[in-house]
Order: sequence, then structure tokens, then C-alpha cells
Amino acid sequence: MLIDSYGRPVTSMRISITTSCNLRCVYCHREGVSSAARELTPEEIARVVEAAVDLGIAKFKITGGEPLVRSDIVDVVEAISSQRGVKEVSMTTNGTLLAEYAQDLARAGLRRVNVSLDSLDPETYKLITRSTYPLQKVVEGIDAAIEHGLSPLKVNFVVMAGLNYEEIPHMLEFARSRGAVLQLIELEPVGVSRDFFEKHFVPLDEVEKALAQRAEKIVTRALHRRRVYYLRNGGVVELVRPFHNTEFCMNCRRIRLTPDGRLKPCLMREDNCVDLYPALSEGSLSSVKKAIVEAVKRRRPFYQLRRSEVG
Ligand code: SAM
Repeated sequence: MLIDSYGRPVTSMRISITTSCNLRCVYCHREGVSSAARELTPEEIARVVEAAVDLGIAKFKITGGEPLVRSDIVDVVEAISSQRGVKEVSMTTNGTLLAEYAQDLARAGLRRVNVSLDSLDPETYKLITRSTYPLQKVVEGIDAAIEHGLSPLKVNFVVMAGLNYEEIPHMLEFARSRGAVLQLIELEPVGVSRDFFEKHFVPLDEVEKALAQRAEKIVTRALHRRRVYYLRNGGVVELVRPFHNTEFCMNCRRIRLTPDGRLKPCLMREDNCVDLYPALSEGSLSSVKKAIVEAVKRRRPFYQLRRSEVG
């Protein structure tokens, strides 16, 4: 198993396959990828996955940009899921094209999806996504994904003061009614201006207190020490609270792959990537593995170091 110099095991890979997206969400961090020189082919992605599996990484999440704008998305999923030793392939998507793809994705080996939906109000949805895509398309995508067994489905909701904070109860009911998990995410200061962050960031302490009162069970996941609240009414809510959270960083188990074949040790930094494209072009599995090992060596717990630097 891969273990970094802070004792953190690395068990999953977040694969960004494109920087293109059909929405322009006001808060989007684009997975910390400012630009990409190319998009890896399904075969190249499969090679990275093969090497990663050999090193003990078993779970893969496809992200972007918007993964479903790639016309070969079904091939990408199949290329990953068909590698020996892969335990789970999941995807995070904005859901706008999911109704069309859900069945083919499930057949190709996708196990589950996170669907980003930050509002159920058409006007707020338009404002957040800066698009005219009908919100109803996303709801249809969620229903199609559930119908085709892509579950447990998670609804990703980035909580923002002044934009959607008041909608949390409505969203909780929406997710509960579909047997989906509501994932409440704190806004991260990546890809947004300082002004935007200061205006819209809201810590989830109050939300956690309210959830704790309504919960019959609270489970702490190994990944990021995320808490999952199982509510008495059947709702399930997971909290993602990275901001200045040293515990979050110390329990991060991910490495990231950019669309152009760089390994990215941390969402928050783009200055310490390892370019594995040369190893991929060379075609040598051992060189790809070496690059992964090097990227793991470069992992630093971002907020842990920030805190110790401040004192
Ligand atoms: N287009 C896909 C989607 O919408 O899920 C995949 C890419 S998107 C960058 C992946 C996830 O990151 C989404 O759930 C999105 O809400 C979340 N996200 C993006 N920017 C964020 C930010 N600044 N803070 C917290 N979460 C963010």
C-alpha cells in the first residue's frame, strides 16, 4: 500500500478527464486545474489505472470539467472498470446529460454517481450555474441514474450564504424522497475571488448541530473524517468540511490525475504536480508507477502546514 511521509495511506484516485464544461458555476474550483494541454485517451487513462491498482489504489472517481461532455465517456468508464483489481468507479457530474447516459454508464461498469445540484429554484440555479440549462434535466438525470442502479446516489450541494443556504431543508427532503444522500459541501477558496469567498462562505457548525439533534446514528468515515448523519425521518446527510480543517487533511487518502496527465498531490496546489505524460508515451508501466510514487512523496497536508506555519 502507498503511504505518504505523513503516514497517510493513499487508496483512491480522482481522475479529471476534461476542463470543458457546459455550465459556468460561479464557485467552481475546476478541481484545481487551471488549464490542460491535452485530454488523455481512454487507453492512456487505463494505463495509469493499471499502475495505480498495482500500487494498492482501488477506487477511482471521474470528474472534470463535466465528464459527460466527452463524447467517449462510456469508453473512459469501461477502460477504468475493466482493469483487474478496480473495486469502485464513480463519477461526479452536473447531471445535465445524465438521463441520456445513465444506462450506458451503468453497463460500462460505473457503480455510483454524485450529482451536483445547488438549488431547486430555477432562478437561483440559473444564477449559480450561469447557464440556461433547465434544472428539470438534472432532476431527470438523478431519477435515471437511480433507475439504472447508480447508487447510493449523492446530491452534491455547495452551501453558500446569500445564494442557497436557506434551501438546505428543501434539498434534504428532495434527496430523502429519492433515497439519495445529501452531501453538504463547504465552499473552498479555490477558483473564486477573495471577495466572493468572504461573501458566500458559511461554516457548517450550526447545520451540524441541527443534524445531530435529528440523527439516530452518526458515522465517521475514514476519508477526511467526514461525518454522516442518519436522520430519524430516513434522510442521510454527509458533511464535507475542508476549510482550515487539519483533521480533513490528515485523513485525505486521494491522489489526483489532471486531464493532461499530471499527478496532483493536493487540490489546493498546482505547483508540485508530477508530469507522468512522458512515462505514458514511453509506454513503460514501471515508469508510470515511479511517477505515482513520486507524487505520493510530494503530498503535504495543506491546512496542517498552514497552521504550523502560522504558529
Ligand atoms: N462538473 C462535475 C460536477 O458538477 O460535479 C464535476 C466537476 S466539479 C468541479 C466537482 C465537484 O466539486 C462538484 O460537486 C462541485 O460542486 C464541487 N466544487 C466545485 N467548486 C467548489 C468549491 N469552490 N468549493 C467546494 N466545492 C466545489
